[in-house]
Amino acid sequence: MPKQPQPLNPYYSRTDTAKLSVADAEWKVLLSRTLYKVARKGVTEQPFTGKYWDNESPGTYFCAVCGNRLFRSEEKFTSSSGWPSFLKTVRSNSVRYRKESAMEMEVLCGRCGSHLGHLYTDGPPPMGRRFSINSALLEFEADRDPSEDRS
Ligand code: FE
Repeated sequence: MPKQPQPLNPYYSRTDTAKLSVADAEWKVLLSRTLYKVARKGVTEQPFTGKYWDNESPGTYFCAVCGNRLFRSEEKFTSSSGWPSFLKTVRSNSVRYRKESAMEMEVLCGRCGSHLGHLYTDGPPPMGRRFSINSALLEFEADRDPSEDRS
């Protein structure tokens, strides 16, 4: 599996945190069809179908559209919902929010504004927050296993 699935995407960066302003038409050219539909049209993937809903490996999750650092595995929890679920983001500005109802906020990437998923208030205590994120929008990089160091 390639680490950076969109090598032609000039906006992709894992270090640049400056906000992007890119027209939808341009994203349509740069992103795969599936990624474009979820990221820019807000289509939700089917539960239990994404590649990360049951991933328990230690590592970091990045935005698949722009490379923004979003979540850590320590904040991921097992959810019966069938979508990758997290307690909190890596930084407070990793994401932005758009209120949809009293119980539900849309979660957008803080850098590129892509639709990531939703934030609900029925998560585990004490915070009660549950980020429910589409696998399609996530890129997972596993932590390096120190036992593999042979220096
Ligand atoms: Fe992004």
